[in-house]
Amino acid sequence: MSKAEQCLTCYGAGETVTEAGPEACPDCFGAGKQLSHSTRMEWRLREIERVYRQSGHETEADVLWLVHELRSSREALVRILALCQDASDADTVARDVKYQANEALGLYEPT
Ligand SMILES: [Zn+2]
Repeated sequence: MSKAEQCLTCYGAGETVTEAGPEACPDCFGAGKQLSHSTRMEWRLREIERVYRQSGHETEADVLWLVHELRSSREALVRILALCQDASDADTVARDVKYQANEALGLYEPT
């Protein structure tokens, strides 16, 4: 792994040392490298699900519903983005929709 790919929080170690001892790095979730926005989002969602599922929290059902809705919306945006990428460059509506979907997903730097 090159230095440029390393996680800037843990310098590639995958863990940070806290008062409670070593813990998985909060930014790369132990991977040691910089993760894409989508990967970080999915890992964060899984962590939220893990914490809330069968927790008995008053908000458990609401949080799990929100995670499900967010994931569904992001999947729809990915499909929309894919459809727009097949459109002609002259199609300004497709280009604008692609830009908006990309912004919401945080997939690529705008070019
Ligand atoms: Zn890290």
